[in-house]
Amino acid sequence: MNKANYYTAESDWQYWSVSQYKDFEKCEAAATAKLKDEWKPSGSPEPLIVGNYVHSYFESKTAHKAFVANNVGAIISKAGATKGKPKKAYKQADMMIQTFENDDFFNVVYQGEKEVPLEGTIFGVKWKGKLDCLNVKGQYFCDIKTVDDICKRHWNNENRQWVSFVEDREYILQMAVYQELLKQKYGKTFEPFIFAVSKQDVPDKMAINIDQWKLDNALAQIETNVDHFNRVKNGQEEPKHCGKCEYCRMTKRLNGFTEVSDILDKER
Ligand SMILES: [Zn+2]
Repeated sequence: MNKANYYTAESDWQYWSVSQYKDFEKCEAAATAKLKDEWKPSGSPEPLIVGNYVHSYFESKTAHKAFVANNVGAIISKAGATKGKPKKAYKQADMMIQTFENDDFFNVVYQGEKEVPLEGTIFGVKWKGKLDCLNVKGQYFCDIKTVDDICKRHWNNENRQWVSFVEDREYILQMAVYQELLKQKYGKTFEPFIFAVSKQDVPDKMAINIDQWKLDNALAQIETNVDHFNRVKNGQEEPKHCGKCEYCRMTKRLNGFTEVSDILDKER
């Protein structure tokens, strides 16, 4: 696994990644359709490009320049009062960058090799991952996360409780996979740190660590699911339809009635 082949469709078939695993958790049918290139989720690519814009800055000045040059069509406004200038989202992204750049704690910790590709075998299947920043000597790694509001509560319907954006976006799972891949490569347990920055007008920031038992639990959760997911991916088992997502709504056919009291049970 290297920087050139990391994001190819071929490597998505060969390897599991955390984002692919999360797709399968949400809806096996949609995940499979996405892999086969039969369907793409709709929605604005802007949050993703903004996230990559911030990431590339902390990778290197050269990487950021190249990223801006390659995405100039998305970044520069084509109409209105801001014509020819960066769109609002990217002015905000510049503020998010400044937020970290002006912070001594961040600058001390966020040191090491940037954009490090990883691979290994977890629970019998091949995985790939990419670290924002790896500090081998300090035995830790860092990930930058952009989020609308760091302290916002998110409802988790499965566990019937409020959770933070870290749990909502399953970042513990992501960090657990990276920790395991690093353990296989270096024979040591690396500690994950998340540097979160918010998209508010005055960006908030937070350095976040995770109790080890939460990482252990997240990894164990993969063991219970990945076998079935892998069989679905290889066409040995039929994908389940969640019945709620964009893909399922698109392919839905009515086949009967739902009694009023059962409507909310269909909520995921
Ligand atoms: Zn679905």
